[in-house]
Amino acid sequence: MRVGILGGGQLARMLALAGYPLGLNFVVLDPGADVCAASVADQLQGAYDDESLLAELAAKVDIVSYEFENVPARAVELLADKVPVYPPRQALAMAQDRLNEKNLFRKLGIATPDFVAVNSLAELEQAMEQVGWPAVVKTRTQGYDGKGQAVLSQPEELAPAWQSLSGVPAIVEAFVPFEREVSIIAVRSTTGEMICYPLTENTHRDGVLRLSIARPDDPMQSQAEAYAERLMNELDYVGVLALELFQAGETLLANEFAPRVHNSGHWTQDGAETSQFENHLRAVLGLPLGATDAIGYTAMVNLIGAIPAVEDVLVNTHSHLHLYGKEPHPGRKVGHINLQAQSKQELEAELKLVLTLAGE
Ligand code: AMP
Repeated sequence: MRVGILGGGQLARMLALAGYPLGLNFVVLDPGADVCAASVADQLQGAYDDESLLAELAAKVDIVSYEFENVPARAVELLADKVPVYPPRQALAMAQDRLNEKNLFRKLGIATPDFVAVNSLAELEQAMEQVGWPAVVKTRTQGYDGKGQAVLSQPEELAPAWQSLSGVPAIVEAFVPFEREVSIIAVRSTTGEMICYPLTENTHRDGVLRLSIARPDDPMQSQAEAYAERLMNELDYVGVLALELFQAGETLLANEFAPRVHNSGHWTQDGAETSQFENHLRAVLGLPLGATDAIGYTAMVNLIGAIPAVEDVLVNTHSHLHLYGKEPHPGRKVGHINLQAQSKQELEAELKLVLTLAGE
């Protein structure tokens, strides 16, 4: 079987690496010249909306998936006429627009921070009366890793914030003084079979994920699973889905979901019985899903902007290095380190060392 992937970055690369043992081969479509999946997959180089390339991709593969959510809707439409595309387009349409996404959470009874859609500075000023201070204004589309958003703490900040977002349609939502950020990585197959990984606790800096720690037996697991299940059933979802949540007291508030494998699930490569990448492939191919249990205590640290000396990482025999084959640039994700331990204390000691190596 050949799998097509829109996007040739590290997620496509790790999908391919997980797929070879299952006997799969890969073709990626990406406009970039030196994409990091190209060393493990055939690449079609060109725009995502290039109709002839999309036809070529469809002719070469049995199924198509994608590694980022800003795939043009038209590309999925063209492909879906010829070959199955998973996750399904209704999931993309929701994840591409924060307003649709938030309305969907509300409709499904998934708690989410109070929000209002805003299309002008005047509407933003008015909306602040409803959501209250502080708040976060976010563009409806194209935002990622904290880009396309601004925190609002006082009235003087409204005009500059609105300008910084170039006045595009946005939502403003209540700022949540959360105790922690968590995500649930869930997977649903073409057969409707569904399974979740243990809850992951995430630490961000400057809007970018730095650290994820798996939390098997977390008291919030069942609430998170119920949300993910509702979402996936509603969307007739197929593949891995990541739902990012804020914990405030005993409640989880949904921030956003990603219709794809997710950075906060990278720990599953070494810390779970089946990785999120393998389970995504199993799901889209209608194969039985693999067990998602965590193996011991486990965590992931992102490498951002620099790669430490490989020997310094591997000297800890429980560290597993994953490099993406990318040139380090400031702010660029170039790899991650997965950690394994027999106890919480051991994991904490390892984390201290690895966080220092990662420059955290
Ligand atoms: P996002 O792009 O929506 O995932 O936001 C990036 C990060 O900004 C989140 O992981 C949070 O750390 C922070 N953030 C976003 N929205 C809120 C909010 N409503 N309240 C508090 N922090 C937020």
